Amino acid sequence: MDIQEQLHRAVRIQELALQTAADRKIIEEAPGRIEEIEARFRERNAEYVAVKERFEELDSDQKSRNNTLAELEEAKKKYQSDLMQVQNQREYAAILKEIDECKARISENEEAVLRAMDELESLKGDLDNRNEHIQQERDQVESERNTVEGEVKDAKARMSDAAEERSGLEDDLPSLMKAAIAKLEQSRQGIFLAKAEDGTCQVCYVRVRPQAYQEVKLAQSIHYCGSCKRILYHQRIVDDMAGVGHGKGGTA
Ligand SMILES: [Zn+2]
Repeated sequence: MDIQEQLHRAVRIQELALQTAADRKIIEEAPGRIEEIEARFRERNAEYVAVKERFEELDSDQKSRNNTLAELEEAKKKYQSDLMQVQNQREYAAILKEIDECKARISENEEAVLRAMDELESLKGDLDNRNEHIQQERDQVESERNTVEGEVKDAKARMSDAAEERSGLEDDLPSLMKAAIAKLEQSRQGIFLAKAEDGTCQVCYVRVRPQAYQEVKLAQSIHYCGSCKRILYHQRIVDDMAGVGHGKGGTA
């Protein structure tokens, strides 16, 4: 396999490797993103639940006070009729005292019921409003989670395609080139190629020897950057890939 073809493939393998790294990041970050989306919902939902609980508590308190009021009215009525049948002054005074007590408790409960009415009304409005919103929030969470899961699915599919394409490209690549790629990919954070331009490595900006630069430019032999050790290629290799394609194009 000629040098140009080897570099063609190395450029494509580099593209695939970078895309795969990006896809791996999407997959790794997905659980955190979903957790964030759900945490945001839990927070809003907690506010909703707090208002709902306050409403229910107050509503149930109100019902119990109304029952108490009915009982007190009943008791008062009974004492008032008892009053007609008393035998002496002492009994009369005792029943009057009971009636007064009933009246005091009635007015105390009535005041509490009136006070609670305002709060209940405002809680009811708040609750209706939140009810509507919380459903929207639920839908929103669902749709955001679907988006993340869709991105993960796409990333996995791309990774699998990339692995297959890469394996095809590496299949009959000279073993020296294959080994160099694997070693540099490990030791250079996944970037094993460096573009040479204007006589300089574009990754570390150290000059390439003029003779080596010429040979890289003409794809005559494989050279490594003297500083960052990456495999050097020239833009014309990429242009050839996009344009003329394979063959012996791109001569001086
Ligand atoms: Zn370099």
